[in-house]
Amino acid sequence: MNFKYLKKAAISVSYQNHQYLKNRHSQHLEAGALNTVPAEKGMHVAVVGAGFAGLGTAYHLLNLGANVTIFDPCSVGTGGASAVAAGLLHPLSPRGKLSWKGVDGFQATLELVKQADLALEQAGLGSCIACRSIIRPFFNQQHQDMFSHLKLPQWVIPMSAETFFNKIGGPSSAVGACQIRGALAVDSPRYLQGLWMSCLQQNTSGRSVTWVHQHIPDPWQLFEMNSKTVHFDAVVVAAGAGVMNMEGLTENLGLKLVRGQTLHYDAKQVALSDSLLCGEYLMPKGNVLIGGATSEYARVDSQPDIQFAVSELSSKLEELLPTLKGVSPLLCQAGVRVISRRTNIGKIPVTQQIVNHNTAEKMLWVFSGLGARGLLYHALLGKYLATTIVNALNK
Ligand SMILES: Cc1cc2nc3c(=O)[nH]c(=O)nc-3n(C[C@H](O)[C@H](O)[C@H](O)COP(=O)(O)OP(=O)(O)OC[C@H]3O[C@@H](n4cnc5c(N)ncnc54)[C@H](O)[C@@H]3O)c2cc1C
Repeated sequence: MNFKYLKKAAISVSYQNHQYLKNRHSQHLEAGALNTVPAEKGMHVAVVGAGFAGLGTAYHLLNLGANVTIFDPCSVGTGGASAVAAGLLHPLSPRGKLSWKGVDGFQATLELVKQADLALEQAGLGSCIACRSIIRPFFNQQHQDMFSHLKLPQWVIPMSAETFFNKIGGPSSAVGACQIRGALAVDSPRYLQGLWMSCLQQNTSGRSVTWVHQHIPDPWQLFEMNSKTVHFDAVVVAAGAGVMNMEGLTENLGLKLVRGQTLHYDAKQVALSDSLLCGEYLMPKGNVLIGGATSEYARVDSQPDIQFAVSELSSKLEELLPTLKGVSPLLCQAGVRVISRRTNIGKIPVTQQIVNHNTAEKMLWVFSGLGARGLLYHALLGKYLATTIVNALNK
């Protein structure tokens, strides 16, 4: 396929461009959440990638009555950055402000976590929630002021240095702390498993969902798969870092890859009941304590490099939890995040339709650039995107 013309013809219908927030496309995409017209019978959407973005979108497409085929060579909960995400979920920025769409994103994700949990519990697999508390320690007055409870009383529960020390057992250098209200940490692979099971439960009343274990190098080709059995009306590319290998899709999107690594410690050696977050983080998940994460721009493969991760992380993690001193990590995990360019409202994920002369009638969307906030944004933007697609196809 000749992709040259795509550069000229790609139209931006993107959250990532701040200008866009002010124009009608923004309202168009957001209206998706309000204007939930059920999908016309037989509508079929292909979703490439089954991480947070792909499964979040698939869930909402099914909810609206569309048929969905997911393409991902990996099994559920094992592919991409989502499979190694620590799982922290809260709506605040590192500076203690509400993130863009923070409240809506948080609520939308909580709803999907609830659905995933229901499906897991019905199958006797327990909950995907690993920890129900995130504490933000403050190591200087400036940090404390940034998170002052007076600014966001509904999100921040202040904690004195003494209370924090007694709860966690250190560090004594903290001048105070706060608990982020309602924040939690999910077991990411298990959440993905529950979300997929929840999608499968919608496999009724005329809707179908199928997982095809296949790598899709060129998503436009999915429109050519017309056969008696399958015809795709739209394609959503939610392939995480994989989108960067798809020619012609990302040239103008300002996306970059950043590798992240986490260290896993034996929770029997270092007990922690709450997650701690202060740039770096520590999060209890069953038998392990996850510490993360690195931000590596120079190397963007997903091969773990424990030596590098230890050199980058261990002293910072020990500052957060002094009892970690001298404890060696059991293992290291690596994943590649896709980050979008910074705007004056932060790094906003990309939901962009690609249109070109030859494929004007073919609806292909890229959903990417979720950065380090995949959990916060996948459900809300997945919902907006699903509804926008269904509404457009209904017309
Ligand atoms: C170490 C680390 C820790 C993190 N911790 C957190 C956290 O605590 N909280 C948080 O909110 N976020 C966290 N993140 C960020 C989060 O993981 C990402 O924002 C999120 O996973 C992105 O989801 P995605 O669906 O866009 O991409 P991915 O999760 O990368 O999913 C892409 C999927 O597409 C598939 N795929 C790729 N190419 C193709 C192709 N050509 N054809 C078919 N399928 C394809 C892959 O197999 C994969 O399953 C972390 C990231 C890392 C690396």
